[in-house]
Amino acid sequence: MKSGKTARLLVKIIVLILLLPLVIPFLTPDFGVAYSGIIYELPTRDKIIALTFDDGPHPVYTPQILDILEQYQVPATFFMIGNRMEEYPEIVKEVSARGHLVANHTHTHPQNLRAESLENIREEIYQCQQSIERLANQDTYLFRPPRGILNPKIIKMLHKEGYTVVLWSISADHHDAPTPELMADRVIKHAHPGEIVLIHDGRTDLRWKDVEATRLIIKNLSKQGYRFVTLEELTRKRS
Ligand SMILES: [Zn+2]
Repeated sequence: MKSGKTARLLVKIIVLILLLPLVIPFLTPDFGVAYSGIIYELPTRDKIIALTFDDGPHPVYTPQILDILEQYQVPATFFMIGNRMEEYPEIVKEVSARGHLVANHTHTHPQNLRAESLENIREEIYQCQQSIERLANQDTYLFRPPRGILNPKIIKMLHKEGYTVVLWSISADHHDAPTPELMADRVIKHAHPGEIVLIHDGRTDLRWKDVEATRLIIKNLSKQGYRFVTLEELTRKRS
């Protein structure tokens, strides 16, 4: 009996150890475990910060974010989902017309790119890029995978296709930060030159929190003397 219990415990421990590599990359951006060749922050000592908005466009929240950005004269980068862009083309055009950068976040936002074939991923990215070029009239070749999930094979393919892969150094959205105030605090406490901040403007009805957090983040960091930039300096044309 006893040895059976011990054996079961051992099996559990072994399974946990085997699963560990699957878990670590999920934690990557906020815990500093880094992939090589991926951008987590801007290489600078200047007091600049890049705000990035994922999962839009959204018919309600994206325009609200645009108004806040306009009010404080802040440029930003929007990692958009291709099929949402097709659904809300006017919003994409507006984002671009106001001088923000539009970047690639796949066509359908698959929850785990590692479970997709490289062929599917390439197609996801290609379709999104087509929407960006047609609707935003931009060709930035910046890519951010859904939920930050990557592996070396996917990274290699992305680099071969000419993409710069950008994750983030701090996320406003976190289970520890359930209110706009706590979301903003999370970012403000972590702020440093070159920070890339992840905020969301789509995919759930809870993004009013991100809208409010955006206002608080901009107000506070501006007072601290930070200037906001897009990820433009990371962009390059595909050769
Ligand atoms: Zn996303």
